[in-house]
Amino acid sequence: MQPQNALLSATGTTIFTVMSALANQHQAINLGQGFPDYDGPEDVVRAAADALLDGRNQYPPMTGLPELRQAVSAHAKRFYGIDADPNAEVIVTSGATEAITACLMAVLNPGDECVLIEPLYDTYLPVVKLLGAIPKLVRLSPPHWELPRAELAAAFGPKTKAILFNTPMNPTGKVFTAAELAFIADLIARHDCYAICDEVYEHLTFDGWKHIPLMTLPGMRERCMRIGSAGKTFSLTGWKVGYITCDKSLAGNVTKAHQNLTFTTPPNLQRGVAVGLMKDDAYFAGLSSHLEHKRDRLAAGLARLGFGVLETKGTYFITTDVRPLGWNGDDVSFCRTLTEEAKVTAIPNTAFYATEGAPNHYVRFAFCKGDALLDQALARMEAWLAARGRAPMAAVGG
Ligand code: PMP
Ligand code: GLN
Repeated sequence: MQPQNALLSATGTTIFTVMSALANQHQAINLGQGFPDYDGPEDVVRAAADALLDGRNQYPPMTGLPELRQAVSAHAKRFYGIDADPNAEVIVTSGATEAITACLMAVLNPGDECVLIEPLYDTYLPVVKLLGAIPKLVRLSPPHWELPRAELAAAFGPKTKAILFNTPMNPTGKVFTAAELAFIADLIARHDCYAICDEVYEHLTFDGWKHIPLMTLPGMRERCMRIGSAGKTFSLTGWKVGYITCDKSLAGNVTKAHQNLTFTTPPNLQRGVAVGLMKDDAYFAGLSSHLEHKRDRLAAGLARLGFGVLETKGTYFITTDVRPLGWNGDDVSFCRTLTEEAKVTAIPNTAFYATEGAPNHYVRFAFCKGDALLDQALARMEAWLAARGRAPMAAVGG
């Protein structure tokens, strides 16, 4: 038999699936893969359920139900002052995952360079490579994850076609500042390229941090493809409804990519998401304060147990340094041992790096869980640490 696609043959199963399977195998509390253990808003779910029963079960328009495109446009105007024509500048996709691929397909030719920022979300690199484009990786470093400006500038060149970046950022919990965004915008304008903006955690920011879409910066309106996800904004990760807002000059190619990927997205779920995006401001404020409390609960508990807890300004995730526990192995062995012995699952941060020399003592915990489950996970880890007596882990610290 001839060899199959070389890139896919070389790609492993995503860490989220690997760790969730391990969690199931060991009946562990799964703080790995980022999904809430509670349901989304009742009215949103009800609208989708009603739309299943009222005959909306055939192909919707390719770019999305008119009512959802209207809602995406109104939401962009309400929160960011973005004017987007719902009939020409909004495309509904089957999750942000499809949206990311569609936007990359819309602009990249084989041989084009695409700037990516490590640590990075798992789908970015495989898709860039499958399109025959050349990834140019720039790394953020813990604990503050500041943008290394000189390195970022050096990653842009005459072959750069696009940058794909994520704010608020998974797994770091970083929210890019206005100054960092201005620096990125300047590079994009100077090198005449595009930006694919993964903003799925746009409403999940804490401590007064505000998400700023790159698209709102001067000169960026025509260059940015802004991506949102109902999974994150309505705590309905299984729905896989995403939405892209971009200039009409880009929307044509984005739509053709979508046409060839999935063509349409379930109409009943789209109906629910349209209701969700029209919810009042209190809903969106409540979502972030609800998660901010969970972040505080888990962060305080992990710090009490001796983890080094990094700051989280947004997303579902806390990054922790396991060295202060005295752990003398790497992040992968830590997560495996934690699942098997403590019955709590987390994600090793090296999974978010593609190049050599990644820091290998950081571990990501998801806090989008009921308070009782978070407390139970902390109690299990406390008992585990006590039982280990710290001795086997003390080698590094001496
Ligand atoms: N981007 C990032 C940074 C994510 O964390 C996720 C996680 N779900 C996605 C994209 C994919 O979103 P969706 O589930 O809507 O495909
Ligand atoms: N975005 C989620 C996370 O980072 C998982 C998504 C997935 O499983 N593909 O944990």
